[in-house]
Amino acid sequence: MLPVVIRMGRRGTTLAVTAASVIGSVAITVLIFRSIGAELPMVGWVATLATPLLLAPTISWVMVGFLFRIHTLEQEMRQLATYDGLTSLYNRAPFLVCCEQYLTLARRAKRPMAILFLDIDHFKSINDTHGHEIGDSTIRTVAQLVRAHLRSSDVAGRMGGEEFVVALPDTDQAGALTVAEKIREVIAQTDIATGKGALRCTVSAGLSVYHHYSDRGIDTLLSEADQALYESKRAGRNRTTVHQPDGGSHKPAPATIEALGLRTHP
Ligand code: GH3
Ligand code: MG
Ligand code: MG
Repeated sequence: MLPVVIRMGRRGTTLAVTAASVIGSVAITVLIFRSIGAELPMVGWVATLATPLLLAPTISWVMVGFLFRIHTLEQEMRQLATYDGLTSLYNRAPFLVCCEQYLTLARRAKRPMAILFLDIDHFKSINDTHGHEIGDSTIRTVAQLVRAHLRSSDVAGRMGGEEFVVALPDTDQAGALTVAEKIREVIAQTDIATGKGALRCTVSAGLSVYHHYSDRGIDTLLSEADQALYESKRAGRNRTTVHQPDGGSHKPAPATIEALGLRTHP
């Protein structure tokens, strides 16, 4: 019903309700008078037409207005529940739903999939030094840079604070590491305006890669990426670490990057 009302608009719905009320009023009155075998007098016709013509547009205009307001609020609530207000990336819960679907597809197609965790380094000191507004704009800039360096099929979410997560479907370890390093490097090289000169920040990254031959659930993959991120922090920040599934050992990415012939970083 609501989709029909939305499609017709407030004015269209009011007109339709008024027309239906007039037709209904006339039909009921004529039926009543016919059933008692009486003639409908002129004053009866006036009352039969005037009552719905006066009441229906007023009442339906107000009611349809309420319906439209509820519809707008519902859309706003859905938007707020789905997307983070600061960065427009997915919130945690909808991100996890997407991630779960991607993992199901990866499992069925026996394709790899990577989870990338990113966390801004020493973000508290950015807030403390430049204030929360600049902190917020740093989070926004990092989110834009992350989004800009992903494929349209990749999904990015804000896990909270200055932490981001990305699901990279159909991406193996080498591919995911390339993406992570590209994002890490571009963030480190981007100026963020503060009003008192530019500020630069870095991120630490953690990667976990799904393969069908070592099947894991989404919670495990996220926890592995988180552990790898923690390892990047521990090893000095501004680096990417790949979670090693065999035995749970973690190697900071520089060693892996060198092995892959990619640029290393401090
Ligand atoms: P590390 O390098 O170990 O990640 O250190 P850190 O300072 O980045 O991490 P920590 O967890 O100590 O601090 C994160 C800070 O982020 C604390 C919190 O007040 C701030 N924060 C969380 N959410 C927001 C936000 O939406 N906007 C702003 N401006 N700050 C936020
Ligand atoms: Mg941090
Ligand atoms: Mg953090």
